[in-house]
Amino acid sequence: MAGFDETFDWVVVGSGAGSMSSALVMRKAGKSVVILEKTKFVGGTTAKSGGVMWIPNNRFIRAAEPDESAEKAIAYLDAVCGDSPDTPGTSRDKRRAYVNEAPKMLDFIIEQGIEMERTAEYWPDYYDELPGGCKTSRCVTAKYFNTKELRPLWQPRLRPGFLPFPAKLDEGMRTAFKNKSWKLKALYAKIAVKFVLGRLTGKSYTAAGAALQGRMLEAALRAGTDIRVESPVSELVVEDGKVTGVVTEKGDKPWRIGARLGVLVNAGGFAQNQAMRDKYMPGTRAEWSNTPEGDTGEMHRELERIGGVLAQMDQMVGYQTTRSPSFATDYVKPPGQSLTGRPGARSSTSAMPRITRWPAAGSARRASQRTSSKAAISSRPIRSRGWPFRSVPTPRCYAPPSIAGTALSTRAWMRISAAARANTTSGSAIPFMGPTPRWAASTRRRTMRWT
Ligand SMILES: Cc1cc2nc3c(=O)[nH]c(=O)nc-3n(C[C@H](O)[C@H](O)[C@H](O)COP(=O)(O)OP(=O)(O)OC[C@H]3O[C@@H](n4cnc5c(N)ncnc54)[C@H](O)[C@@H]3O)c2cc1C
Repeated sequence: MAGFDETFDWVVVGSGAGSMSSALVMRKAGKSVVILEKTKFVGGTTAKSGGVMWIPNNRFIRAAEPDESAEKAIAYLDAVCGDSPDTPGTSRDKRRAYVNEAPKMLDFIIEQGIEMERTAEYWPDYYDELPGGCKTSRCVTAKYFNTKELRPLWQPRLRPGFLPFPAKLDEGMRTAFKNKSWKLKALYAKIAVKFVLGRLTGKSYTAAGAALQGRMLEAALRAGTDIRVESPVSELVVEDGKVTGVVTEKGDKPWRIGARLGVLVNAGGFAQNQAMRDKYMPGTRAEWSNTPEGDTGEMHRELERIGGVLAQMDQMVGYQTTRSPSFATDYVKPPGQSLTGRPGARSSTSAMPRITRWPAAGSARRASQRTSSKAAISSRPIRSRGWPFRSVPTPRCYAPPSIAGTALSTRAWMRISAAARANTTSGSAIPFMGPTPRWAASTRRRTMRWT
């Protein structure tokens, strides 16, 4: 391997959770590892996410429900996904590999000091009515994390998440309904007291995806991983048909790093790349996405350049929303409505071309029917979820039964969204408290189309 400025055993592009776990595995085996992250933050979309991992047959569910098994989970995935040459990301072999290996992965990261727990008692499978479906919870999340446990240099480099509180994800979400019962009021008070005490004692908590990434970052650094931010990888170096290194930057100059064992490309999706959206998912917008700025897909192009084959680039997972008036980058869904798992539904949050985690099954089902341009807003209530932020009361325009549970045209949603934005008076103000406008009401029972 000639011409490299430095060499590691294992080179990782991107700093999502998979990058950190691979670094931990390699460091345990005594190999040198570098993680190269393009942005100034570590954590990627993973840090902004709920951090909820669907891991069937994991140690927590097995302890609570002895009848849980890998076979049940495989039956579930088989029932949801089926087999199609169109969906190699969820092939039968991959599904089996995932179900068999994911619980081992969980055990491994727990052994490395990452504290994990069952997400909630009830966080059911998306299609829990199908064979092998789980009506309780196969999901796990990291325990909330005190970011002050990171070395001072790294504290500001952890990408912020959406739940900066000492709470479990489902607890944090439930507090939105604190006015509904004394039990929820007590939960809210417990979290508030913990938060204030934490602040007074110099702690800074975060939960959900940022907690996962905070814990992973801490463990990866402790294990001796070299992690570099603002180090975009622009090229994979190929010699004799093998990837032997990458080209990144150091001090604004190209910097070539060799890889003795291999390069892991874990660089997210392309939700923020409008040109790629136009090519693979026409009719969708980068600005709709909740993914961070680094989700721009150049590694997909690079992999394609060196002969890689891309698949399922026209799929993503998300839900139909309109823009939240109070958050610059957040989108909200009407309360009590979701657009999960409806055949043919296109959705609008995170682009996930390599569907491996969330919910692989649902995506495959949609994929099999994606020729349909029709989608409908589900009137099925969001189970344990709902309006998540106390500071954002439900805009009344979403509430009337004239809209709830009916299908609207995309154009109508855009108009609602635009009207909501136009009525925003400040960053945190709650706009659009008037009655449902006639044009919105008149869109009842229309079928939503993306184009
Ligand atoms: C709001 C939200 C909530 C979600 N909740 C969940 C959930 O609860 N459960 C679930 O399973 N999924 C969830 N998802 C989806 C999930 O978060 C993502 O699919 C997952 O985090 C992607 O992980 P990744 O490691 O592939 O990419 P990322 O976590 O995005 O990491 C990729 C990193 O690579 C970097 N990168 C990109 N290009 C380069 C380059 N050229 N050089 C160097 N670095 C580069 C990026 O900057 C980024 O930091 C959610 C998504 C969103 C947006």
